[in-house]
Amino acid sequence: MKEELFVNKTLKGIGVSSGIAVGKVRLIDRGKIAANKRSITERQVEREITRIKTAIQEAIDQLNGIKDSIPDEDVKKHAFILDAHILILQDEFFFNSVIDVIRAELINAEWALEVVAFRFLASFDQVEDPYLRERGQDIKYIYERLVRILAAEKKSPIERTAIKGKWIIIAHDLSPADTIQLNLNRISGFATDVGGRTSHTSIVARALEIPAVVGVGNVSSLVKNNDLVIIDGEDGLVIINPVKEVQKEYLAKHIHLRNQKKEYLRLARLKAETKDGFKMRVGANIELLSEMDIVEKYGASGIGLYRTEYIYLSKRNNLPTEMDHYHIYRKLAENAAMEYITIRTLDIGGDKFVSEIEMPKEINPAMGLRAIRLCIKEIPLFKAQLKGILRASAYGPLRILIPMVSGIEEVRKAKAILAECMEELSHKRVSYNKNIKTGIMIEVPSACMISDLLAAEVDFFSIGTNDLIQYALAIDRVNEFVSYLYEPLHPAVLKMIKKTVDDAHANKITIALCGEMAGEPRYVPVLLGLGLDELSMNPYAIPRAKKAIRGLDHGYCRELLDEIMKKDSPADAELLLKSEMARLFPGDFPKVEE
Ligand code: PEP
Ligand code: MG
Repeated sequence: MKEELFVNKTLKGIGVSSGIAVGKVRLIDRGKIAANKRSITERQVEREITRIKTAIQEAIDQLNGIKDSIPDEDVKKHAFILDAHILILQDEFFFNSVIDVIRAELINAEWALEVVAFRFLASFDQVEDPYLRERGQDIKYIYERLVRILAAEKKSPIERTAIKGKWIIIAHDLSPADTIQLNLNRISGFATDVGGRTSHTSIVARALEIPAVVGVGNVSSLVKNNDLVIIDGEDGLVIINPVKEVQKEYLAKHIHLRNQKKEYLRLARLKAETKDGFKMRVGANIELLSEMDIVEKYGASGIGLYRTEYIYLSKRNNLPTEMDHYHIYRKLAENAAMEYITIRTLDIGGDKFVSEIEMPKEINPAMGLRAIRLCIKEIPLFKAQLKGILRASAYGPLRILIPMVSGIEEVRKAKAILAECMEELSHKRVSYNKNIKTGIMIEVPSACMISDLLAAEVDFFSIGTNDLIQYALAIDRVNEFVSYLYEPLHPAVLKMIKKTVDDAHANKITIALCGEMAGEPRYVPVLLGLGLDELSMNPYAIPRAKKAIRGLDHGYCRELLDEIMKKDSPADAELLLKSEMARLFPGDFPKVEE
């Protein structure tokens, strides 16, 4: 069959790691792997059980082997993903579930594995939070490895592929083990048919700053080895066999982005200080320890939000213990470059989900038993995390941040539980910071309305605009049909933030903002005008935020905010803000047509 040659064919996906890569394709064909169903007799049950037992051990050995032979120090940091796979493989619940299916249905090991894996996958599919939903992929990768082993196919496609020279890797999908085994120094870009922003390949690509586009549909079936491709991680494009002019255009874009990145890295080292001397603290939002290198490189003064849900997820079928928490937080605490590290306590429920924690079926989970409400109900769960934080607080500037507070009783109850934890640790002569700062997320409208009362109870506030906007404007944050209503400059949102900031300052406590709004540079003058002391954002957004802060005058921001707050429509407020940003930063913000 004659293969079709594509010229200048552009495919759209999701840009998950920015930058431009131009190079030759190395196609990784993981091949479709499918289990066959075979009925067995009662007498063959034990044989199938032995087969699955041996396959699991072989898979664990393979993954340990991969971990031991990781070629690159930077990549080694990501090996924890393989540990998570090993933990699932060692999990008795997983193993027993497969055995139960073999016995009950009298079917072969492969098919029992398929039944169990797809049962697990189906529960992940129902999760709304994209990060957590993506973790279902881990089950799929484990399933595929086991089926390959059962089919006596010892090695994965990557292990069979020696990669020399510099390449752009294109695959249908890459498992964490695949990605880790690649010699990433030799990879200039990635594109995969499937995947999302939070898939492991995306996380690793971002951490190593390799341009990547995922979710491209069928790119792996359209390219051939040695095709020339462009990966545009900014706009999420893959261009197959680009013509000369397009190559030139992208070379120019590559140079522009490279210079811009150099400029960002230079800006990252500068202070976040306005022209009239106001110092704003600019921190990072993270969820993995492995993001710490990027955090430092992009100039965060601290961690404004460490989302801890991943810790619960990576310990499938087991809840993390006090010591599990402690080991992770201690590593964060010991990072000398960070002035503060804010650990947000478990924010599970609603759009975030962990299967080990039994949750009631709720018609409206966003308003259900979640976050602090759940922690107060499940006290041992909450205490394990609080004690882990306290233990680690002896090693660095940790702070505790409590999510989804809606009333004062929740704060008092949480503080009482924290005091109990302190007492228990003191009793055991464990050292910890007795004055650890404790703050709350302000992300429920009722918390804004009583921010004067709440401010008297805590050491700091952090506003979560992702949820605050959702609850204030009654728009589901994951529903694309109402996303057009998601307006940070809605007068109701601005008034709530303003009141909360004023109440915080009247009570002499600091106030941060850590929702997505903080990472959007055009909102910086609004946030300065509102009087926030601290912003926290995705680490890559920090240099641009610093640039905006350094180019502004705090007094001017207050005046601009007054004008913005006089606008009754969010669209008019946006228009005014955009035209001011275009006037003040002509190279960075486009001119607004009147
Ligand atoms: C928020 O709600 O703005 C926030 C920062 O928390 P999360 O996005 O994790 O709910
Ligand atoms: Mg939130």
